[in-house]
Amino acid sequence: MMFCKECGKKMRGRSDKRFCSSDCRSAYHNRHRREEMLTLRKLEASLLRNFRLLRKLREEGVSQLPREAFERMGFDFAFYTHAMKGARNEQIFFCYDIPYMLEEETVVFLTAMAVTARLLPIESFMR
Ligand SMILES: [Zn+2]
Repeated sequence: MMFCKECGKKMRGRSDKRFCSSDCRSAYHNRHRREEMLTLRKLEASLLRNFRLLRKLREEGVSQLPREAFERMGFDFAFYTHAMKGARNEQIFFCYDIPYMLEEETVVFLTAMAVTARLLPIESFMR
């Protein structure tokens, strides 16, 4: 016996049938799309909060600050857009176009040039 994925009604017909009607199919997909959008919106809100804080501090000329100060201002270290590994195995985080690192318990802002330098193999500095 097959059951509709949306309303749970018993169904007959092809064994790959998932919904009893096109209404149930639409309802199912709409709900899933809504949940997906909600998840993305929450994620985006966290990233945006982090980004605005980083941008504000950078504009104020801050080059480094204790991690704890960031957390007190509402920064959430779980949210960043991407990360790279430097040549010394250090983790470089990005919140959109703003790179930063964690050195011990201090957040250090990086310039684009500093990021490039960190990505270069160590040997290139020894030549
Ligand atoms: Zn149904």
